[in-house]
Amino acid sequence: MAQYEFQGSTVPIIRFTEIGSTNAEGLARLARGEIMPVWLVADIQTAGRGRRGRPWTSELGNLFATLVLPNPAPLANLAQLCFVAGLALRDAVLAAAPQLVSETLKLKWPNDLLLNGGKLAGILVEGGTDANGRPAAVIGFGANCLHHPEDLPYKATSLEEAGAPTAPDRLLEALDLAMAVRLNQWHAGAGFAGIRSDWMRHALGMGDQVSVKIGEREVVGRFENIDARGAMMLRRRDGIAEIITAGDVSLRVPE
Ligand code: ATP
Repeated sequence: MAQYEFQGSTVPIIRFTEIGSTNAEGLARLARGEIMPVWLVADIQTAGRGRRGRPWTSELGNLFATLVLPNPAPLANLAQLCFVAGLALRDAVLAAAPQLVSETLKLKWPNDLLLNGGKLAGILVEGGTDANGRPAAVIGFGANCLHHPEDLPYKATSLEEAGAPTAPDRLLEALDLAMAVRLNQWHAGAGFAGIRSDWMRHALGMGDQVSVKIGEREVVGRFENIDARGAMMLRRRDGIAEIITAGDVSLRVPE
């Protein structure tokens, strides 16, 4: 069941008590020719997903929200939205839970937000072109307000666990504002240089030696930069620069 509301948010909000995936709903709306930005927000997702279809646990009490953006920028710039969204989510968490210390919130390339080293939230940017062949994107946010999974190969966390209990609606309100500000800064890609330097300032492992696993291959090097397509640039010990696209990669930073 969907409910439409517009309570002073910068973008109208459509609420669902339960949905398969807010991103899937957003993509379906774009395919039908939706031309207005909209937030799709669900209390529960029954088929929440991350990159490459990996499951995203979606319990009541966490935030599941997708921003549908018809025609946000030229197609070549859409991959940058992951960094715009990461910064906005980080801004929003700090605004909604001001007791948190800024340095404890790190962006992990390409699409995670960590709190005290644990995965607090994930972002999934999907899209391409809409029904009329124009560029279009959905940006999905899954943020652990109340619950976090305990059975992952790495640590996950929640705002509740960090002693900063925050209602999903409060976080959404902050995220709506933060996205408006960061999208404005990005300016459909013309402002990506500023987004990139802000993102790098809060990125896990930036300037450090990191280890990246690409399938079976492991690359170790200094995390020096991200490029305009969102790729990570590592300087290997032999001096060669390795450009890593957001494929099946996991980034590890030595303790
Ligand atoms: P990784 O961060 O492990 O490299 P990924 O970036 O490919 O994975 P995501 O798109 O962030 O994956 O999301 C899917 C993965 O996130 C799942 O495979 C699971 O390990 C993890 N995950 C699922 N639900 C949650 C959650 N609520 N909080 C934190 N992590 C989760």
